[in-house]
Amino acid sequence: MSGGVRTTCPYCGVGCGVQVMKTQAGNYEISGDQQHPANLGRLCVKGAALGETLGLEGRLLYPELNGERVAWETALDETARRLQGIIAEFGPQAVAFYASGQLLTEDYYVANKLMKGFIGAGNIDTNSRLCMSSAVVGYKRAFGADYVPCSYEDLEQTDLVVLVGSNAAWAHPVLYQRLVQAKQQRPQMKVVVIDPRRTATCDIADLHLALRPGSDAGLFVGLLNHLHNVHPLTGDLFEGQTAALESATGWTPAKCADFCQLDLADMQTFWQWFSEAERAMTLYTMGINQSSSGSDKCNAIINVHLASGKLGRSGCGPFSLTGQPNAMGGREVGGLANQLASHMNFEPADIARLGRFWGSERIAQTPGLMAVELFEAIGRGEVKAVWIMGTNPLVSLPDSSHVAQALANCPLVIVSDVVRETDTSRVATVRFPALAWGEKNGTVTNSERRISRQRAFLPAPGEARADWWIVSQIAQRLGYGDAFGWQHPHEIFSEHAALSGFENNGTRAFDISGLANLTREQYDALEPVRWPVAACGNVAFKSWRPGGKFQLLPVEPELPHAVADRLYPLILNTGRIRDQWHTMTRTGSVPRLMQHINMPFLEIHPHDAKRYSVTDNKLARVISRSGALVARVQVSENPLPGNVFVPMHWNQQFARKGQINGLVESVCDPHSGQPESKQTAVRIQAL
Ligand code: SF4
Repeated sequence: MSGGVRTTCPYCGVGCGVQVMKTQAGNYEISGDQQHPANLGRLCVKGAALGETLGLEGRLLYPELNGERVAWETALDETARRLQGIIAEFGPQAVAFYASGQLLTEDYYVANKLMKGFIGAGNIDTNSRLCMSSAVVGYKRAFGADYVPCSYEDLEQTDLVVLVGSNAAWAHPVLYQRLVQAKQQRPQMKVVVIDPRRTATCDIADLHLALRPGSDAGLFVGLLNHLHNVHPLTGDLFEGQTAALESATGWTPAKCADFCQLDLADMQTFWQWFSEAERAMTLYTMGINQSSSGSDKCNAIINVHLASGKLGRSGCGPFSLTGQPNAMGGREVGGLANQLASHMNFEPADIARLGRFWGSERIAQTPGLMAVELFEAIGRGEVKAVWIMGTNPLVSLPDSSHVAQALANCPLVIVSDVVRETDTSRVATVRFPALAWGEKNGTVTNSERRISRQRAFLPAPGEARADWWIVSQIAQRLGYGDAFGWQHPHEIFSEHAALSGFENNGTRAFDISGLANLTREQYDALEPVRWPVAACGNVAFKSWRPGGKFQLLPVEPELPHAVADRLYPLILNTGRIRDQWHTMTRTGSVPRLMQHINMPFLEIHPHDAKRYSVTDNKLARVISRSGALVARVQVSENPLPGNVFVPMHWNQQFARKGQINGLVESVCDPHSGQPESKQTAVRIQAL
């Protein structure tokens, strides 16, 4: 390999460009791609360690049926036969896909096309449901489209950055580095961190508001009221304007400070800074989205940007940071069960349009099951076949012991993965060996709508194959061969791009039809590009709602479902740590990434440590109504009294003492279906 290969990091939604060079000794040197606009040469420690994750130890390299290696033909034929039998006997609703923000857009597109376009049910959902589905609802309600109206460059042009429910320093490290640099270059740029817990992100904060967990909507509804008092909104600017302003009226400073348990003066300082800033951005992630009222929290944030005009121009906007490398690509291809491909909806015109484009009369007519309800339906025996691609729901879904029971009783569990032994793959009937990062070829979209290429620089090991190929093989065996006959991912990308422009005429925000006719060489050479890339020229940001106005949504702030009580007196918060990724199947194998933090910890305030007789550095058991976990105690003033924190990553393989999502209950936002993973009532026991 001469000159190296430019590709994209497979971890978080920052989407950093990576340069890979092969050394004379045969190793791969990883560095940041200087030309990639997302990171401009930077990498965080996870990205920099990618070269240490390329070994084949633990890889799934051959197809398996009931734990035995079989030939591809056997695995594919048998899987198709069983799927066909289940569809014939119980109908298409008895089949489901559960996909992942780790998949490439091309893989995702093919899985969605098979499920919603040809099997004919809406049942394809994704682990991105756990990550940013509330943000999608927020944008769609406000703008009429799932459009993230910000870029990373905006951070270098703004006057105020508000980070809410985001520990970007650990979860989006390179973005945080950009922020640190922007602050160094323009110290007058203010940074406000809104988080019940003191995190590494607070190091650059001019103001940290450690509000009552889950009370964020109260803070932003109060801010809307404040903005209206300072500069009254006159005229009929927004849909829902009167109702939203009226519902905010009662949220006086005193009421908000009480609701959020904040110092009144600090809270008003934030409001004043936001109101007076010429440009402001609000960055938010799981602390907002993973909530039983996450969608409303997103709209409470968007409302203040709409009402103050801090939107649609540089240095402004409500910016949802996605957790995964291709959560955005999944949204684009319809990977969420409640939407169709190319950001289309389950509306008659969209269903008919998709049928015309795909040449199918079997398009799903209604939304499918969202992640938590999907596994509940598996548990009830209603869904009898599930194909899990690139994710480990037995660890990552809330109430994971019920997920385990559901999968154990599911007649057909198909797993496509790169790792042979995961908690989920152990219960699989069929295991398909998928290509890993460095071996597969396609595109991903990062948080700022930037499409980048992931390029292969390694040969396919064993008999591993691309996810799109595996799904296409099954589609052909189910009788849909003509629609699944691609030979290379560039053909899939072209079809996806063409669909985005099909009968669009500016009615849909997602339009990359300008990329529909790339040759294979052009696709291979594709530079990172932010959508829209419409064939008719770029589409300006606007409201795509009927009537053309943005919507201010009335929001009634709610507190989390879980409350502390006598038996479970503490509230558990969960989140990422800096050097691990998700369920650690990749990063957990890198010794230097384990040096940062090598076991699950329980962060607890000194008052609570004393009260519950747990000691720094000793073990304690964390117990909820659904499960338990052992962790090392870390006494710290970072959490508020009454609250504890445990990282989300450790699974059975690494902890062997329980896993965090076994503790979390599956209470979901009614609009987005996103679970409230940030709030669980627990008690602790010294060991
Ligand atoms: Fe990878 Fe995210 Fe780190 Fe960038 S910030 S190198 S995308 S993990």
